[in-house]
Amino acid sequence: MGMTTSASVPAESGDTTVAHGTVTDRLVEANEQYAAAFTDPGMDARPVLNVAVVACMDARLDLHAALGLSLGDCHTIRNAGGVVTDDVIRSLTISQRALGTRSVVLIHHSNCGLESLTEEFRHELEMEVGQRPAWAVEAFRDVDQDVRQSMQRVRTSPFLLHTDDVRGFVFDVKTGMLREVDPA
Ligand SMILES: [Zn+2]
Repeated sequence: MGMTTSASVPAESGDTTVAHGTVTDRLVEANEQYAAAFTDPGMDARPVLNVAVVACMDARLDLHAALGLSLGDCHTIRNAGGVVTDDVIRSLTISQRALGTRSVVLIHHSNCGLESLTEEFRHELEMEVGQRPAWAVEAFRDVDQDVRQSMQRVRTSPFLLHTDDVRGFVFDVKTGMLREVDPA
């Protein structure tokens, strides 16, 4: 589950063909069944629980199941690491100012791919493609410290209306448990 630049990815990993068509075909088929059983819940776009959850994109983290969330309850904002980037601040700003959320929950997790990367990843990319990415990798060594930094970025953002209820957690991918990180 390590991340690599394309130079070191085995060729077969790009093959998404499954028994019947591509993986995307499979998703589209699943959607047909979903839509057939779907009834309009009649919700508007404002999250019922007035909360935005920022989390890592990790495939082992099922946010709705892990947090007891239902359709319509929250905004989920996900990226590699669950780090608070400018684009996460953009989404949180819209979430709070246009769609009424007031609480922010940040979730990193154990065994994150970003723990095995360094900013050297950017350098390798630049060497390979001849262009330096504008974004930081946001790699980290200490997951608790990274959660604290993310909380701090939310709390100090001038764009957000509500920064008093910001809490950070580490999800354990082996036990399913959330552990809160002390902001101090
Ligand atoms: Zn992760």
